[in-house]
Amino acid sequence: MQDQYDIRMLIDGRWIEGEGPVIPVTDKWTGEALGRVRSAAAAQVDAAVAAARAAFAAVRVEPYERSRLLHRVADLILDDREALAATIVAESGVPWKDSDNEVSRAAETFRVSAEEGRRLTGEIVPIQGAAGQSGRMAYTLRAPRGVVGGISSFNSPLNMVAHKVAPALASGNAVVFKPPVATPLAATRLFELMLEAGIPGGLINLVHGGGADVGAPLAAHPGVDFFTFTGSTPVGKAIQAGRGMRATALELGSIAATIVCADGDLERAAVRCAQSGFRRQGQACTSTQRLFVERSVLERFLPMFLAQVAALKVGDPRDHSTDVGPMISEAEAARAEAWVREAEAKGARVLAGGERRGAVLAPTVLAEVDPGSKVLCEEIFAPVLTILPFDTLDEAIERVNATPFGLAAGLFTRDLSRALKAAERLHVGVVHLNEASSTRVDLMPFGGVKDSGVGVEGPRYAMREMTEERLVTITL
Ligand code: NAD
Repeated sequence: MQDQYDIRMLIDGRWIEGEGPVIPVTDKWTGEALGRVRSAAAAQVDAAVAAARAAFAAVRVEPYERSRLLHRVADLILDDREALAATIVAESGVPWKDSDNEVSRAAETFRVSAEEGRRLTGEIVPIQGAAGQSGRMAYTLRAPRGVVGGISSFNSPLNMVAHKVAPALASGNAVVFKPPVATPLAATRLFELMLEAGIPGGLINLVHGGGADVGAPLAAHPGVDFFTFTGSTPVGKAIQAGRGMRATALELGSIAATIVCADGDLERAAVRCAQSGFRRQGQACTSTQRLFVERSVLERFLPMFLAQVAALKVGDPRDHSTDVGPMISEAEAARAEAWVREAEAKGARVLAGGERRGAVLAPTVLAEVDPGSKVLCEEIFAPVLTILPFDTLDEAIERVNATPFGLAAGLFTRDLSRALKAAERLHVGVVHLNEASSTRVDLMPFGGVKDSGVGVEGPRYAMREMTEERLVTITL
């Protein structure tokens, strides 16, 4: 284990101090110091990329061996489960239940990557089907791109890192990764565990620092062949602009919606939507921010839903029964509260919550919100949800689609034919039928459309993006 106080970077297999500004890391519930990160200086970002390039050229780890190493990382993650969960709780404020679940999901992400890496394959191209091609054969192979750069957001400090690093390694790349400054600890521990598992040091480089100082130069670095980013849409657009033709995957923001039809299972919808709106304090890219409810069942559904919201336990994230803890900072909670006040000033009714103590914003449900209010027009990334009555499913779908974003949507209905038709028309990357918008299983493909991003995560799908497909023809 490293010194608890100084959070170091991993470059070319050695733990080193950053030479840039010092950034404190605090416990998001107690405010106590957890450590301090010294950001990378520009030359250290260059050194990390150079180390990755050199290791990619020099170190060949065969797919079977890669798979074995990644399974070993999964084992070590599970051995360290308790401590890793406590780290996530402290640095992010994500309650223990979700943090503990995140640790097992991160292990699963490594396991799925280990399995998929063993069967990464191209295809036989039936070239003889074309005129004049008899005596020729063709196939495609998948070659690693080289150096994969990655940056993640604060709301999932471990599994989001796993989703970038594990598929990159499984498909034969080297990595340079930068976690957010608010939550660098779980990521740093993961890099320690990867080194302990036996992954060659130069293949896994970790740098720390802020977005402008370290993130931007890393993303635009000419030595980074593929970049995988999770964060806000404006930053994602800036990164894409700096990368020109080079391949980039962007997992960005959204204003996710769930639709509850009159013929849906209302009890189930009430439970699922309360979790989706408020789990992780609403700080998930797929959190239900807009809840469309068919007008004819609004009076029946609302008390069920509000009872679920009232039952959420708000408070100390270390408590194993807590559902909603502090947001990432008091400033973020104050911003979200100001958006609630703006909606109220424009005539919204607060059906639950609305009040804030420090970084804790109570789970808040709004109704009768003016369509021009920020809570409906921008991603709130906070425990705030708006109820929106609708009359026909067509109308609801149109309203779900009427944002610049398209990440995930949920729909509750018992009418299979309506559900499947709706899935075709909801312009998002992920549709959950009889689930709320924020359901994710680590082996599934996951990615957004429109301003919610480009590219798909999930180990099997990320590995396709992190490799180049090369056609080989053979004349016999
Ligand atoms: P953010 O964009 O502020 O920061 C994300 C990361 O980018 C951080 O590591 C930050 O240091 C870095 N960064 C900031 N400016 C940069 C720059 N100019 N160049 C390079 N890197 C830079 O986002 P956040 O506040 O950490 O996270 C919240 C956002 O992330 C929300 O919009 C949310 O929807 C999105 N998100 C998306 C997904 C997804 O899978 N689609 C998942 C989680 C979060």
